[in-house]
Amino acid sequence: MEQKRCPTCGRFLNPATDFFHGELERQIIELIRIDHPDWEVRDGVCLRCVEEYRSLLASKDIRKDLAKLDHMERELVRKIAQRLQLSKNINEVYEESLTFGERAADRLTQFGGSWTFIFIFALVLVVWMWINTSVLGKPFDPYPYILLNLVLSCLAAVQAPIIMMSQNRHAEKDRLQAENDYQVNLKAELEIQQLHEKLDELRMQSWQELWQIQTRQLDLLEGLTRSVGMGKEPGKV
Ligand SMILES: [Zn+2]
Repeated sequence: MEQKRCPTCGRFLNPATDFFHGELERQIIELIRIDHPDWEVRDGVCLRCVEEYRSLLASKDIRKDLAKLDHMERELVRKIAQRLQLSKNINEVYEESLTFGERAADRLTQFGGSWTFIFIFALVLVVWMWINTSVLGKPFDPYPYILLNLVLSCLAAVQAPIIMMSQNRHAEKDRLQAENDYQVNLKAELEIQQLHEKLDELRMQSWQELWQIQTRQLDLLEGLTRSVGMGKEPGKV
């Protein structure tokens, strides 16, 4: 009888291992038929090719699952797979990405929200009013200090967007921090799960070993009892 060849790799088929009678998964059969439309299960396929199709199927499933994840989760999976460190100092990352204008706005907001600013500002106001009331013979901004009002309005108008810029960036920083926390927590959770699985496996393994030892001991005991029974003199208990 002519020996058949594997339809995918062309190797000779082993009649003992390479013919599957109904135990081949439906998806594998469909995958083989995509490449070889005329192929039937009874034609046989070598075990190595079946394994290749199985891994192809598994990687397809994994890719399908990966496609469902968003960018952040995909990045997390990549980092876990490559065993990369996830936790990072958001303050450092954030400071490095700031432009000169953003840094200046942060410093101004910091200064604008301090007691030093309030004291200096109050002092400037008092000095301005004092000069225009008592010192200068011909004041540049007499009572009711219209120029001072204008300066104050301008200051308020400029200060508001600077504060808003700074607040927006702080919100962005908080968002980055929360994202990083989420990633680190998720990774920790997954790794704890993995550890649990490993522990369960180890426990199961030690149970099996214990079971084997006990079975062996029982066999030995049985053999011992039998040999003692055979050597026992009749009539004695
Ligand atoms: Zn093959």
